[in-house]
Amino acid sequence: MKIVALVIFYSFFLVALSAQDFKQRAEENFPFLIRHEVLKDQIKIDDVGVTMYASKEDRANNIPEATIYWNEVPTFLNLLENYFVDETVNRYLSKGTSKFDESQYYALEPIKKTPNSLKGMKIVIDPGHSANRFENAIIERKFMKIKGEDLGLDHDVQFFESDLAYETAAILRKRLKKEGAIILMTRKRGKSAAGMNFDKWLKKGMSRDLKRDVASEKLTQKQCDWYEQEATISEKFRGYFNRQDLQTRADKINAFKPDITLIIHYNASGANMVDGYYKPTDKNYSMAFVGGGFMEGELKKPIDRLHFLRLLLSQDLKRSIELSDVFMQQHEAVLKVPAIENKNNVFYLNKNSVYAGKSGVYARNLFLTRHIKGALVFGESFLQDSAEEAKRLYLTDYKEKGIKTSSRIGEAVETYYQTVLKYVEQYGGN
Ligand SMILES: [Zn+2]
Repeated sequence: MKIVALVIFYSFFLVALSAQDFKQRAEENFPFLIRHEVLKDQIKIDDVGVTMYASKEDRANNIPEATIYWNEVPTFLNLLENYFVDETVNRYLSKGTSKFDESQYYALEPIKKTPNSLKGMKIVIDPGHSANRFENAIIERKFMKIKGEDLGLDHDVQFFESDLAYETAAILRKRLKKEGAIILMTRKRGKSAAGMNFDKWLKKGMSRDLKRDVASEKLTQKQCDWYEQEATISEKFRGYFNRQDLQTRADKINAFKPDITLIIHYNASGANMVDGYYKPTDKNYSMAFVGGGFMEGELKKPIDRLHFLRLLLSQDLKRSIELSDVFMQQHEAVLKVPAIENKNNVFYLNKNSVYAGKSGVYARNLFLTRHIKGALVFGESFLQDSAEEAKRLYLTDYKEKGIKTSSRIGEAVETYYQTVLKYVEQYGGN
């Protein structure tokens, strides 16, 4: 009798302890996940677990979509870890507020420790955008063109982000590989993650992709016809090519199961454009994005709510903030670009993001910060339209590992490289 009582008490105690830990984690993550107060109505965190509602109305009518009980968190995270996120939607919906099957109950949380060295560390390098030439960078809206007179030069300058990000990634890849890291780079120069440039895709890829998406009911025949007959070239790019590219990147990255993901971008203040030329600014700053910051309308679909629950219940967000914090510190130390000040007038920081508690780090619900599992940093190292940066970025005055680029990009590579080293030093084994 005594023994039975002891056993019951012991197992109860274990469950109760981890339940408390999971609740605490969810409460710590929660403030970074919500940008608009109205979304708070869709989530209930209490002593039992976290309950999700499909809408504000469902909450008012007490119709929950699903509850993840605290002792089910490891089971739920395993589910997300082992399947593509969209495959888990059906399992999540059919579970509802009932419990997961008991045979799955004792799954351990799928925590991966941060490696102690670069040897064998799995790192994703994702160079932002995909333009293969300047005209396509214009369609992509990720180009820089500045009048010489505005920079004190006797010629105009131009360059584009897709190439800068690629060059950074390509050198970084070789450096990290040399130290024994296992690298996945998501794309080649001028190509999407699926391996095609936009020009070739327009000619050969688009109608094939449309057929495929109509067959799988991702698109209706009407939408397909619109893309074929009516869409402008930039609608084809933004509505279809680019979206598909982001999805391919996310799928590739999650299948690789990396220790960390580095998403490389360069920013622009972009406020001043006259006749297709940017007016340079004397400002400069860096910032980094992690997941979270959901806005009104961004918890409409079950899949959005699953992304939200992963960020709420896993360690991904905390780890991404730690990695991004190291990244920002290296920007001050190596690249000598200050973090954006907490008080600023950058609209997407004030309207679309939540300050993540570390200088320059913001929770923002971007496609990649939402889809990619594990620790990530979405870097925005400097302003390309800063006069000082622009005067260096158009040059090809640096060569490393066979790749020619601007010496400023060489410095950005060093910043990313130091970020990885310092992150391993500081958090390795955690
Ligand atoms: Zn970018």
